[in-house]
Amino acid sequence: MVQEQTKKCPLCAEQIKAEAVVCKFCGRNIDKKFKKNFIIAIAITTTGWVLFSVGIFNIFQKGRGFIVALGLILGFILIIVGFVRVIVNTIKMWWRG
Ligand SMILES: [Zn+2]
Repeated sequence: MVQEQTKKCPLCAEQIKAEAVVCKFCGRNIDKKFKKNFIIAIAITTTGWVLFSVGIFNIFQKGRGFIVALGLILGFILIIVGFVRVIVNTIKMWWRG
């Protein structure tokens, strides 16, 4: 008989298979790579919002230079990219769970 490797779920503390990505007891995603991807996606979106807000603020301060335009465009792209990544990761989480 082959004994299966187990680990403790960090969320509900039940014993689960060592290779498990989703806990069968609490149904939550415990994949480290997944968690990292999600944090990266949120970080991208946040950075985008900061750049975008700074750009908008500068327009109200009557600053309309190249840097302001670049910040707005870059911020907008980052928001879209980050948002898509958050959505994709959320769908993946529900799909597996
Ligand atoms: Zn669990």
